[in-house]
Amino acid sequence: MTVKEVHQGLIRKEFSALELCRVYLARIKKENKKINAFLDVSEALALSQAKEIDTLISQKKETPFLAGVPCAIKDNILVEGISCTAGSKILENYVAPYDATVIKRLKDQGVVILGKTNLDEFAMGSSTENSAFGPSHNPHDLSRVPGGSSGGSAAAVASDECVYALGSDTGGSIRLPASFCGVVGLKPTYGAVSRYGLIAFASSLDQIGPITKTVEDAKVVFDVICGRDRLDSTSIEISSKIENKKSKVQIKNLKIGVPKEYFVKGINSEVEKVIKKAIKKYEEMGAEITEVRLPHTEYALPAYYIINPSEASANLARYDGVKYGFSAKDAADLMEIYLKSREQGFGDEVRRRIMLGTYALSAGYYEAYYLRAQKVRTLVKNDFEKVFQKVDVLLTPVSPFPPFKIGERIDDPLSMYLVDVYTVSINLIGVPALSMPVGKVGKLPVGLQIIGKHFEEEKILEIGKLYESY
Ligand code: GLN
Repeated sequence: MTVKEVHQGLIRKEFSALELCRVYLARIKKENKKINAFLDVSEALALSQAKEIDTLISQKKETPFLAGVPCAIKDNILVEGISCTAGSKILENYVAPYDATVIKRLKDQGVVILGKTNLDEFAMGSSTENSAFGPSHNPHDLSRVPGGSSGGSAAAVASDECVYALGSDTGGSIRLPASFCGVVGLKPTYGAVSRYGLIAFASSLDQIGPITKTVEDAKVVFDVICGRDRLDSTSIEISSKIENKKSKVQIKNLKIGVPKEYFVKGINSEVEKVIKKAIKKYEEMGAEITEVRLPHTEYALPAYYIINPSEASANLARYDGVKYGFSAKDAADLMEIYLKSREQGFGDEVRRRIMLGTYALSAGYYEAYYLRAQKVRTLVKNDFEKVFQKVDVLLTPVSPFPPFKIGERIDDPLSMYLVDVYTVSINLIGVPALSMPVGKVGKLPVGLQIIGKHFEEEKILEIGKLYESY
């Protein structure tokens, strides 16, 4: 069911929030063995939240849209009193001492939280295979990855184990799994959603966003979680929330750009066909399609894979075996506690990024790597700014190929990084982007990426809806 269907069912008393919650919990029990979308099921919390909503409804109080709607939360977002592992052994026994701001906002609406979903360790990866607790499986083909890093969240939505989920996106981690699992994912503008209570990965790139069944649902969830939070100084009030303006998109006036650099060697021809067909549909609806150029595209991925590990290496310094989390038992002195806890607690990809990032930031190399990558970031940003003077949105694939087999790329980090080639630019420049299912290659879903200008979530969601209803 979608958020809308659940809401209507609840207020029409077709079922109670508690009944619904029990159905989803039973479904998780059945599906999780196959899919491994959930790392932890918060049954007691979910049931008590559902009971509260039933009381609210029986008292005929106004029922918010998300009230009683069962959801799942990526396991790098803190929910007070519930474990939060970030997919890592180092936080295996960590229990969140407070709620993330997004969770507070959902709780104000009467959320029902079913549990925490699987992810690549500290959100580093594109397949969930980097999780310390085993990979999640793609519901459309269990031998394939669901994408990452929010693979558990997307797989949970796609397999009807929850109505919607939250994910985080640092370089594609909402959009890629949404695309691979055939659901909708929104990466909001940097600053649109508070990061307070999100386990920090790369702080200039991270954003929390919704993973849903429909574009309409993505908007409902986004509207609740977005906006200024004094606990995150990079968050801002977004205009759609202040003015509540209805920015109806006129398809006849819509200018859509298709970047040439996103359809070059390397893209799977079947994926290309599906995406081109979706673009054609917009043309049939009356939009004006123009080819545009983003000449620095090929440098975005290498720049991202300098900036991302650099920020990650700084953020992950806090896991020292002393303050919280895993602490090595066999350490003789303080230095050994640091070394052994980090060596035993972190997986390969996390250690790789810490080493790469520390190197890129070190004296003598900083200018050659980190600083240079930041300059490239500006070039990429300039490309987009120029193009956005001529067009309203851009349409691209989310991934160059369909979901791949579990095990296919995990031993070759470079081939795994290449999965992110169409998504990382968006995080480097901070604009919003939507991933929406538009077709299949065999039985495997393909997602279209709709990229908008800063804080134009409303517009890209409207444009997504046009496709859904065409
Ligand atoms: N796959 C990308 C990476 O490994 C993106 C991860 C993310 O968005 N969290 O960095």
